[in-house]
Amino acid sequence: MTDKVQKTDAQWRSELSPAQYHVMREKGTEPAFTGKYWDDHTPGTYVCAGCGTPLFDAGTKFDSGTGWPSFFKPIDDQNVATETDRGHLMVRTEALCAKCDAHLGHVFDDGPAPTGLRYCMNSASLKLEPKK
Ligand code: FE
Repeated sequence: MTDKVQKTDAQWRSELSPAQYHVMREKGTEPAFTGKYWDDHTPGTYVCAGCGTPLFDAGTKFDSGTGWPSFFKPIDDQNVATETDRGHLMVRTEALCAKCDAHLGHVFDDGPAPTGLRYCMNSASLKLEPKK
């Protein structure tokens, strides 16, 4: 993924809802069981709510019981960047949109087969494009 989407803080504030801005640009976390997608089973593609980059296929979504939409792999590893997050007295792997650097959530290694990974995402960072 080469072309980065770069916008000013004012642009992001005007384009995103306050909840989206908090999660995506301030690395916030929406409360469990409150987001739009944790219990959604609609087939389709989850894209970045900030820039439209395809992030996850609904076919890789699973019921994690956490109250956050959870996937076992991204559509393309190049679309979801990861970084070490040492905040909140934990060492976690942060997941970001590779194109606009939006915070998406975290990746844990207690997911199901075939990857064993759990991409624990915030609904606020995602937009579902239902399969036509
Ligand atoms: Fe993005």
